[in-house]
Amino acid sequence: MPPRPLFVANWKMNGLHADGLARASALAGHAAGGDCGGDIVVCPPATLLFALRAVFAGSQIELGGQDCHATPEGAHTGDVSAPMLADAGCAYVIVGHSERRAGHGEADETVAGKAAAAHAAGLATIVCVGESAVDRDDGRALAVIGRQVERSLPDGSTTDNTAIAYEPVWAIGTGRTPAQADIEAAHAEVRAGWERRFSGSGAALRVLYGGSVTARNAGEIMAAPGVDGVLVGGASLSADAFWQICQACR
Ligand code: PEP
Repeated sequence: MPPRPLFVANWKMNGLHADGLARASALAGHAAGGDCGGDIVVCPPATLLFALRAVFAGSQIELGGQDCHATPEGAHTGDVSAPMLADAGCAYVIVGHSERRAGHGEADETVAGKAAAAHAAGLATIVCVGESAVDRDDGRALAVIGRQVERSLPDGSTTDNTAIAYEPVWAIGTGRTPAQADIEAAHAEVRAGWERRFSGSGAALRVLYGGSVTARNAGEIMAAPGVDGVLVGGASLSADAFWQICQACR
């Protein structure tokens, strides 16, 4: 049986208290109408976590962080630790997003350290991998994806505490998406990388697609073999659009 789909909203650095609450309340209202058939995670800015915990209490919507530090506490100005996210009500955390890999110089080993800290705090990780436009043009997309999977996952990763998001960097926020066949090939490589790393079956691993997912293209993307959910940036800033995306597994 394929894994239960996972729909992740990544609000990034968007949302002040009032509009974050309004968006979350609208989404909770949609979710109150019934199970969409998948798990739903909202990753707001850290400033909104405690407020949104109250909004999502008793709903099927889980909270996630957008990043965490590799250590549980200490002198790391501006960072948020995995135990802090858990304390704020998170069940998940994104690690290795390309905006962190590029904008904060995070290497695969850094990502693995963060994921290990998240698992130690009881959080499930959404580990992001994906090739750049240059990687794809030069024909090494699958090699890059496979290498990132093998190096970005810590020992102790399981299909219960880990999902992997395939996010081609050139598709994030650009309105461009890969061909269905390229998504299928990338997801197969993610699963193969998991199997090489953990010598076990990747059938239960949730592999998400991310990059310019909208309410219009979500159904087609979810229909690609090996796609177990989506990670959504821009379109998740509309509760209506994100809820329509969550219906895509029906
Ligand atoms: C993302 O931030 O992970 C993302 C996929 O963004 P967008 O949906 O806007 O492309």
